[in-house]
Amino acid sequence: MLQVDEEIEHRVAPRERALPEPLRALGRLAWNYWWSWAADGAAVFRDLDPAVWEECEHNPRRLLAEVTEFRLMQMATDPVYAERVSRLAARFDEYMADNRTWSGHTDKKITWQNPVAYFCAEYGIHNSLPLYSGGLGMLAGDHLKSASDLSLPLVAVGLLYRHGYFRQRLRRDGWQEEHYGETHPSVLPIQQVKDEAGVPVMIEVMMRGRNVRAQAWRVDVGRIPLYLLDTNITENEETDRWVTGHLYGGDRETRIVQEMMLGIGGVRLLRRLGIEPHVFHLNEGHSAFLTLELAREVREAEGVSFDEASRKVRERCVFTTHTPVAAGNDEFIIPLIEKSFGSSYEESLGLSHEEFLNLGRITLNNEEELFGLTPLAIKMCRSTNGVSRKHGEVSRSLWQKMWPSRSADEVPITSITNGVHAPTWVAPLIRALYEKHVGANWAEIALKPEEWQKGVEKISDEELWRAHLLLKQRLVAFIRHRSFHARLSNNESMDYTESARTMFDPDALTIGFARRVAAYKRWSLLLTDPHRLLRLLNNEERPVQFVFAGKAHPQDQGAKFILQQLAQWKYDPLVRHRAVFLQDYDQEIARQLVQSVDVWMNVPRRPLEASGTSGEKVAMNGGLNFSVLDGWWIEGYDGRNGFAIGNEVEGREAAEVDESDAESLYRVLEEEVVPTYYERDVEGIPRRWVAMMKRSLETLVPAFNSDRMVEEYAREIYL
Ligand SMILES: *Cc1c(COP(=O)(O)O)cnc(C)c1O
Repeated sequence: MLQVDEEIEHRVAPRERALPEPLRALGRLAWNYWWSWAADGAAVFRDLDPAVWEECEHNPRRLLAEVTEFRLMQMATDPVYAERVSRLAARFDEYMADNRTWSGHTDKKITWQNPVAYFCAEYGIHNSLPLYSGGLGMLAGDHLKSASDLSLPLVAVGLLYRHGYFRQRLRRDGWQEEHYGETHPSVLPIQQVKDEAGVPVMIEVMMRGRNVRAQAWRVDVGRIPLYLLDTNITENEETDRWVTGHLYGGDRETRIVQEMMLGIGGVRLLRRLGIEPHVFHLNEGHSAFLTLELAREVREAEGVSFDEASRKVRERCVFTTHTPVAAGNDEFIIPLIEKSFGSSYEESLGLSHEEFLNLGRITLNNEEELFGLTPLAIKMCRSTNGVSRKHGEVSRSLWQKMWPSRSADEVPITSITNGVHAPTWVAPLIRALYEKHVGANWAEIALKPEEWQKGVEKISDEELWRAHLLLKQRLVAFIRHRSFHARLSNNESMDYTESARTMFDPDALTIGFARRVAAYKRWSLLLTDPHRLLRLLNNEERPVQFVFAGKAHPQDQGAKFILQQLAQWKYDPLVRHRAVFLQDYDQEIARQLVQSVDVWMNVPRRPLEASGTSGEKVAMNGGLNFSVLDGWWIEGYDGRNGFAIGNEVEGREAAEVDESDAESLYRVLEEEVVPTYYERDVEGIPRRWVAMMKRSLETLVPAFNSDRMVEEYAREIYL
């Protein structure tokens, strides 16, 4: 039973305690996620009380509520700490007050009165706000942060999932179990949206024959407001309170009503707030119903036909597709559409039942077809784009059937390659090198390839290598810490639990592999030849070690089986010091890994990796990519800035491709990656390796950061 949890809320809600004067600014900083990407931001909160910081999962509001009075006074009377707090606060105020609007355009079409409205089903802003499952959410989070840094007026709309995405635990036998935490708005930097009279704003959407109401919450991401709809209120029937219960957790019916709430409810919320967007960005098809709501509004205001109304809607809507497989696109059986919408919605659009259903079909009047959100979005938006050049090409053939008279080349689907938010993903230690050699405004310079390259050239091999080694030591400590506690809580044997304290070697070549456990990601490719793999792990002079992490979809038994197979190795004396699986892959684990590994491996089945972004995070920190040429890596790889697996032959039998890719994977590891890494000069520095690290930084950072991406969206899509 879902309660409004007033009791729980009361119990966990932090007192807004009065902070001692030197630390007062922390109260303000805690309410805007800007701190999470500001230099020294996370460290200032952590240092207030590192143990409490860990306990409250890096949530500053809880930290400030739970830190003891004594510790608070200790830090308030520490002048060095107080100075850090006041410097951080001064930078925050400066950041927020900077009202230059985005420099890339002068015609001022996009303003705070007419912003970009960005719709997405998930957001990965920070680990303390568990409203994401993976890459799509992370990308959305990075999009907001870059829009903030670039001062691009944008408001974001999503859902507040009471239970977010599942958390993963592996049993002793390696089988994945899922459990759900609970997101309490009262302990997070989330404010309820209220009107001028202080009354909570509510919107209403008719679904399944009932009016479902939602309240709204606001999260500040730098200058960008993120609005989250929430149906968990007493006025709603029990079932309807679960509409925003779980992210991707429910059945098809839950999915469609969530998407109605996001799309239709989202537009209604913006109206209540008096926001008139210049453009609506549908980031993936989940929010496609918003186009119908806009058409309904136009008809209501102007009394025009649906065709006329949808022409106007198209001028204001743009769509990004993220899925290179037909099956990955959201579609619904017709009875579910009928049950969820009833007949009044199509009437308000001036459409017959058949016309309404045709909106979600590729071929008109084809009764065999399901109602697809991607066809709907493509029809109702003035532009559609994929997320890498290759993915643009793949999407053109995938959706060519919507333009039967055109060849795939002529299909109007473009691409903007995904990027990641550098200040979020770059380790403080590497950031300090950028600040020193590239300049305090390194993140801006990162957009100018030549200037950036000059700066990076100034970083000496020794400095870069030393910083990287320190980060690797941190990673090994992190792995030992996490593994020890995981073993302890699994009641593993004393000996096995204790051995976590000495596992892994900071000097050994360390390869990271962390991603969803989905078939196309080919987790088992590395295990194709176990003996060859064991030889790599146990080579005395030149050992290789592997860090794995990733979640299997709760219903995907095959994926869970792969995880279990991998876990079976955990007791093997030939493996257990050199390979580890970290449970519950999330933003925090991702950060630890991408900042510290030597090599990041990715082996998707071509061409199914739409873009991939985790390798871009690694590149910003000096790690090298070792990947199949797919998604972003086709554009990034230049022969000298990382390693390529496989060749570009497509269209053979999957098993044959797997076999040849596995062979290539082992061979490149044995003949290129390992020898280059272990080739040292008299000072112990791998010069050729470090040259590749620098080449990777120089060539990849300017191209694959989200400031470049958001600028491109602004110039080429929004305007
Ligand atoms: C970056 C990131 C992803 C996306 O990774 P890819 O496998 O490259 O698509 C997924 N999950 C988390 C937690 C991330 O940080």
